Amino acid sequence: MCSSSNLEQRTAWTRERLSEALGESAVRLIATIAKHAHAEKVAIYLAGGVVRDLVLERENLDLDFVLEGDAIAFACKLARLYGGETERHIPFGTAKWKLNSATINNLSVGSGAIPAQIDFATARTEAYPAPAALPAVEPGLIAQDLLRRDFTVNALALRIEAGSCPWDMLDPSGGYNDILGKEIRVLHDRSFIDDPTRIFRAFRFASRFGFSIESSTADMMREAIPVIQRLSGERIRHELDLILREEYPERIISNLSALGIFAQIHDSFRTSVRSAEQFKRLREDMPQMCGSSDDIARVGWLLLFSDIAEDDALLICARLDLPRGLSNAIAGFARLMAKVDWLGAPGTKASAITRFLDGISATAWRAGLICNIDIHSVKERMELYMEVWRHRQPTINGNDLIRAGLRPGPIYREILDKLRSAWIDGEIESEDQERELFLKLVNEAE
Ligand code: ATP
Repeated sequence: MCSSSNLEQRTAWTRERLSEALGESAVRLIATIAKHAHAEKVAIYLAGGVVRDLVLERENLDLDFVLEGDAIAFACKLARLYGGETERHIPFGTAKWKLNSATINNLSVGSGAIPAQIDFATARTEAYPAPAALPAVEPGLIAQDLLRRDFTVNALALRIEAGSCPWDMLDPSGGYNDILGKEIRVLHDRSFIDDPTRIFRAFRFASRFGFSIESSTADMMREAIPVIQRLSGERIRHELDLILREEYPERIISNLSALGIFAQIHDSFRTSVRSAEQFKRLREDMPQMCGSSDDIARVGWLLLFSDIAEDDALLICARLDLPRGLSNAIAGFARLMAKVDWLGAPGTKASAITRFLDGISATAWRAGLICNIDIHSVKERMELYMEVWRHRQPTINGNDLIRAGLRPGPIYREILDKLRSAWIDGEIESEDQERELFLKLVNEAE
């Protein structure tokens, strides 16, 4: 039940309150957009995640507008008036307006934060021709648009009136109360069958907000799990990528795994029992090791494969339609995981380790270090590789080989490799020793 104070909160989205939540510049931007919609006599709404996050008092400047009218024409008009680019997606009646610095100046909304891009969508109804297929869409009204959405908590909209506040919240499915009750609930019984990506989304939102999945929603989800097999690789990949960018991916992964969802993606896809500690380490250690959230998500992808052999990993990569660079990194990581004993064995030479690690990507050895940090000898050698060995190069180069009168050919590479290995293995420690070895190798080659 909704208390009277909740009701008050539901309807009273005053300018002050919005300004506090989104910042004054963003509110001015919204008002400017509303003014143009009003001039076109088109009803306009802020909808989805941004409204959910307003209620949750979480920062979110991802402005998604829904129009009961032609959203593409509207976004193009804004771009003509204020500058910036539009990216249109005609089949779904959506457009992204990308703002540049000139646009931001032209909008005169002050110096506060505003988003770099804004999404506009024509309000629509959807029909699913088959389970897990993309829907057929038709223009509709805002209430229909909200009712086609994934979860009640995401099916909220604020009607933006030009020049006046408060803005009313539309909540046809009880999403506001579900936010207060911390529950993820679908809007209809076929929701997961129509679109099994919602299974991934449900766990993602539940984990992010600390919500639970409402019990009949959880039952419906379990029934729809086999339909995941029908999803395209690209759609599953997109969902996994979003999960890997969450704060605690391991929680979501463990929930998906417990329901056997990875096995539906591919028979051989199973996550490591150690994935929780691996992701924790990734979160704690990686920012110092490399930094960007893209890099961290990339290493996260590899951790999903930490218990899978290279052949199977490549089949899963193909199922998920992963880009070639990422598949190669996953394959390299699988090779590394298969050679952990060799990497840590006392007899393995530093130069051999260097040659091996040189052949796989930085993402792969970073993931390898995360997974093997408890094995002292492996950790130590991988760190030495990263910090010292991989940078070691002989001081002698191709010109020295030419000067020595050696005919150019594969022998050049061989000699330079031997010199590099000798440096890495500590067999030579000075330039004099290097030259001595060099002359010996040239003599042998002649
Ligand atoms: P985030 O906070 O992760 O950006 P979001 O709620 O903004 O999440 P988006 O993926 O950006 O989600 O989608 C915007 C809105 O579109 C959602 O809030 C939801 O209402 C709707 N939506 C997105 N994906 C689906 C889906 N698969 N089925 C139904 N509705 C969806």
